[in-house]
Amino acid sequence: MATEKACRQCRRIVEEATTCPDCGGAQFTTFWRGFITIADPEKSEIAKKMGITQKGKHALRLSQ
Ligand SMILES: [Zn+2]
Repeated sequence: MATEKACRQCRRIVEEATTCPDCGGAQFTTFWRGFITIADPEKSEIAKKMGITQKGKHALRLSQ
């Protein structure tokens, strides 16, 4: 199983990627805690609060 890692810029969680599919960032961390799956960022209060504008799995917190 691939290690999931989170984008440092937008917190998107990816498994196999060298650049983030959402923001194009190339900085990832494997030190993250909790995640949320956003289905519809336009209608999600949590997504708005967290500043998430893309669908998908996002880390709640980055530890480093
Ligand atoms: Zn990103």
